[in-house]
Amino acid sequence: MSAAPDGERLLRERVIATALGMNAAGINRGKAGNVSARWRAGGFDGFLITPTGVEYDRLAAEDIVAVGLDGVAAGRMAPSSEWRFHRDIYRARPDAHAVVHSHAPFCTSLACLGRGIPSFHYMVAIAGGRDIRCAPYATFGTQELADAATAALDGRRACLLANHGMIALGADLDLARQLAIEVETLAETYWRALQVGDPVLLPDDEMDRVLAKFATYGQRSR
Ligand SMILES: [Zn+2]
Repeated sequence: MSAAPDGERLLRERVIATALGMNAAGINRGKAGNVSARWRAGGFDGFLITPTGVEYDRLAAEDIVAVGLDGVAAGRMAPSSEWRFHRDIYRARPDAHAVVHSHAPFCTSLACLGRGIPSFHYMVAIAGGRDIRCAPYATFGTQELADAATAALDGRRACLLANHGMIALGADLDLARQLAIEVETLAETYWRALQVGDPVLLPDDEMDRVLAKFATYGQRSR
């Protein structure tokens, strides 16, 4: 991200704008969900994350909390209760510069059935693999949930969280938010198809062809 003197403030404002954008897009409501962006400057190595329990439209840049990869938080408010999975994603994934978490209704509906999103549509590959996994349930805010989420994200840029919601990551905040919206669209389409019958799944070799095409398709490769 920007190393400009006002870079941190700009990034804090972008975190808020991304959170508001999730609600405007209908993939999140109220205080559920959270947003973060990787931030490194002046010896600090960590991320900027939305605080816990505050409506997005009441957030000011100063409310965003800086959390180091060591888990130490600095700010006037407490970080999102889910800071652990944000931290573990940034630790594990050099490609992650932004992470969004939401209780998007169709993703969450599937996650409440313990279902991920299989290869029912070629666009599933947008998340980086042949399917979008559903991490097993663990209590919100726990290290157990962070472990389950990072495992489900292995080789992927998005996952569902059983009985909870979804996570998407990206090379920047816009890409992470856009991916979250695309995954919610896929979840809705899959849910609709399930109402009528058993969706036809694309075979692994076809998904691998799609993944190879996406890898040379501009931003899809990021
Ligand atoms: Zn949540």
